[in-house]
Amino acid sequence: MQTHILGYPRIGSHRELKKACEQYWSGKTTLTDLLETGKNLRLQHWKIQQEAGIDLIPSNDFSYYDQVLDITLTVGAIPERYQEITSKESNTELDLYFAMARGYQKDSLDITAMEMTKWFDTNYHYIVPEFRKDQKFNLFSTKIIEEFTEAKQAGINTKPVLIGPVTYLLLGKEKESGFDKLDLAENLLPVYLEILKQLEHQGAEYIQLDEPFLTLDLNEKAKETYQWVYSEIKRQFPNLTFIVATYFDGLKDNLSLAAALPVDVLHIDLVRAPEQLEEVLSTIPWSLSLSLGLVDGRNIWKNNFDQSLVFIHKAVAALGTERVFIAPSCSLLHAPFDLDLEKNEDTLSPEIKQWLAFAKQKVQEIVILQKLASGNPDYNVLQKLAENKKAIQNRATSTLIHNQEVKKRVDATTEEDAQRNNPFNVRKEVQQEVLKLPLFPTTTIGSFPQTIEVRSWRSKFKKGELNAQQYDQLLKEETQRTIQWQEEIGIDVLVHGEFERNDMVEYFGEQLSGFTFTQNGWVQSYGSRCVKPPVIYGDVHRPHPMTVYWSEYAQSLTQKWIKGMLTGPVTILQWSFVRDDQPRSLTCKQIALAIRDEVQDLEKAGIRIIQIDEPAIREGLPLRKAEWQNYLKWAVEAFRLSASGVEDATQIHTHMCYSEFNDIIQNIADMDADVITIECSRSQMELLNAFADFKYPNEIGPGVYDIHSPRVPSKEEMVELLKKAQSVIPAQQLWVNPDCGLKTRHWEETEKALIAMVEASRELAASY
Ligand code: GLN
Ligand code: ZN
Repeated sequence: MQTHILGYPRIGSHRELKKACEQYWSGKTTLTDLLETGKNLRLQHWKIQQEAGIDLIPSNDFSYYDQVLDITLTVGAIPERYQEITSKESNTELDLYFAMARGYQKDSLDITAMEMTKWFDTNYHYIVPEFRKDQKFNLFSTKIIEEFTEAKQAGINTKPVLIGPVTYLLLGKEKESGFDKLDLAENLLPVYLEILKQLEHQGAEYIQLDEPFLTLDLNEKAKETYQWVYSEIKRQFPNLTFIVATYFDGLKDNLSLAAALPVDVLHIDLVRAPEQLEEVLSTIPWSLSLSLGLVDGRNIWKNNFDQSLVFIHKAVAALGTERVFIAPSCSLLHAPFDLDLEKNEDTLSPEIKQWLAFAKQKVQEIVILQKLASGNPDYNVLQKLAENKKAIQNRATSTLIHNQEVKKRVDATTEEDAQRNNPFNVRKEVQQEVLKLPLFPTTTIGSFPQTIEVRSWRSKFKKGELNAQQYDQLLKEETQRTIQWQEEIGIDVLVHGEFERNDMVEYFGEQLSGFTFTQNGWVQSYGSRCVKPPVIYGDVHRPHPMTVYWSEYAQSLTQKWIKGMLTGPVTILQWSFVRDDQPRSLTCKQIALAIRDEVQDLEKAGIRIIQIDEPAIREGLPLRKAEWQNYLKWAVEAFRLSASGVEDATQIHTHMCYSEFNDIIQNIADMDADVITIECSRSQMELLNAFADFKYPNEIGPGVYDIHSPRVPSKEEMVELLKKAQSVIPAQQLWVNPDCGLKTRHWEETEKALIAMVEASRELAASY
C-alpha cells in the first residue's frame, strides 16, 4: 500500500511566495530573488513530505501564480495579444507569464489580462485558457521537466502532476465561434506526449494527471475524448505508471468511463463522495489500482482514523494491498500549512486545536493510516490512534459547540421572515423618493486601498504598539479622507472604505460566536492573494453589533448616502472552514439570522443603503446540475432571511464577482436585492446578456472596469461599456461602479480610475 500526495500548498508557511512575487512586480527585487524563493519553497515542501514518509511526492504542484496558467504556458497556448511581450528581449518567460495573469502596462504597451474564474467549487481562482479555432500548441515552457530534475538533484524521485489534457481543454474558453474546444485534443495531445517523453527520459516513473471533470456531467464528445486521449497516452508510454486523479465529487455516471481508461491508478474522493467506494470497488478491472482520497484536502478537521480504516480494509479486502493507494481527497492547496504554527491560545483554544489538522498534519495522517492499516503498527502509531479517538470523541460531545437559544430561533423562523414587506416595484418608488439618486448613480463596491500604512496600524495594534484609541483615531482619519475624496470627485453613494477590516469574512467571524480563527491559516485565493478562512466550529450568533460604529461614523461626516457594508451568509459559509457535524444549510441559516440582526441595527442607526455581499453564491453550486436546485433553495433563502427585516425605503444591495448568471438568473432574481453589482468588464459586458434576456426587473451595476489589474481604464472605454450595457438594460436600472472592492489597489490608480468612472457616468447621463 503506497501513500501519495496530490499537491502541496505552495505559497509558503509564512506566505513567502506572495511577498516575493509582489516585490518582484513592484520592481523592488530581481528575478533571481524570486526564483530563489521559489526554489527554496519547493525544496522545503518536498522535504516535509519526505521526512513524513510519503511514498510518492508530487512535483509541478508548485506555481508562481496558477497551475492552469502553468499548463497554458507549457503548451504554448499564448493569446495573440502577448506577442509583443515575447518579442521584447528584456522580457523573460516569467514576465510573459505574469503579463498573461495580470495584464501589462509598460513600454507603451497596454495589454489586458486573461480572464480568471473559480476552480470548480473552491475559492481558488485559475486563469482561463483562451482557445481559437486554429489553435496551435507547442512545448513552450519546460517548467515541469525542470522541477522534476530539480527534485531529483535533491534526492527525490517525484511524481510530476499535470492537469490532464481533457480537463485542461474543458477549463478553457472558445474565443471565437465555429468549433468545440474538445476538437483541439488532437493538436494538444502531441505536446503532452512530448512532455511525457522528456519526463520518462529524466527518470520519472509515476505521472499524475488531474481529471476532476470526470466528477462532473459530461457529454458524449467529452467521454469519447477521454477514451481516445488516454488510450493514446498509455499506448505510447506503456512503462509509465499513470494516476488519474478525480476529486470534488463522486464519479457517478462516469464511473464506467473512468474505470475503463487504460491507466494504472484511479484516484477517488471519499470525503466528498464516500458512498461511491462500494460501487467503484465492484467496477474497476484487475488492471486498475485504486487511490483512496481519505483525508479532507479542503477542510481543517482531523481525520477520523477509525472511519478511514474501515474504507481501507474494504478496499484491501477487494483489491489486495498492492492495488491500494492512500492519499488526501484532493490537492492540499486548499488547506493551510501547519497547525504547529498556531501558538496563540487566546484565538485558537487548545480544546478546538486538538480537532484540527493542516497540510503538514494531513501528510502525517496519511502515513499513520498506512502504518495502522499495514498489520503490525508499533507502539508509537497505536498511541496516535488512541489520541485520534480521544480528539474525535471530545469534539462530538464538546459543550463549546451547542447553543440552545440559537437552535430555538432557527426552528422558529418562518417563510415570512424571508420576505420584504412589498415587491420591488413598490419599494423602488419609496426608495427613489428618499434617496433621490441621479441617473447612472455611481458607487464603489466597498473597500478602498488597504495601504501599507493601514495594514501596519492593524499589525501594530495587534502587537500592542498602538492602543485601541490610537488605532481607532488612525482609522477614523483614513475613513474621513476617503469620504471627503469621494465627495470631491462626485461619487453618489459613498462607502466608508473598510479600513478596519482585515478580510471581508474574517472580520465578521471574529465578532460572531461559534467562530474561531487562526494566525497563520492562509490559503491561496488567486495569484499572490491569500485568505485566512475562519473556522466555524459551533452554533453561530451575534453577541453585539459588528459594523454600526463605522457606518454611523462615516454617515456623520457627509450629507450624501453612506452604504453600509456586510458580508452575506452564503459567502461567510463558503469562505470559512465549516463544521462537518451538521448540514451546511443549517449553519448558513444561523449565520443569516446574525446578519439580519446587523442589517436591522444599521437601519436603526439611519443607514438607508445596505450592501450584503454574496460573491460566493455561485461557487457554492454543487458540481452536478441535478443537485443545484436543492442548494439554491437554501442559499437564496438564507440571503433573503438576512435582507428582509427592513422597511421598503431601505435599499438592499448585493454584490457578486466573476459570476456567470445564465443558468441561475431566476435564483438571482429570487434574491430580490434592490440593486445588484456584478463583475462584467473582463467579459466586455457579455455577462449582462443573462439579465437582459431574463428582463431582470431590479437595478444592476455592471462593473465598468477590472480592479484585479493595476491598469487604469480610460473614460472612453467605460463610456463604451456603459453604452453596451444600456443597449440591453434600460438606463433607469443601471448603476456605475468598478468590478469589485479596491482593497488590493493603490491609491494612485484608484484615483485616476474612479475620476474617469464618474466622468463616464456624467457623460452618459448628459445624453438623456
Ligand atoms: N465589499 C467588499 C469589498 O469591497 C466586496 C469584495 C468582494 O466581493 N470580493 O472589498
Ligand atoms: Zn467582488
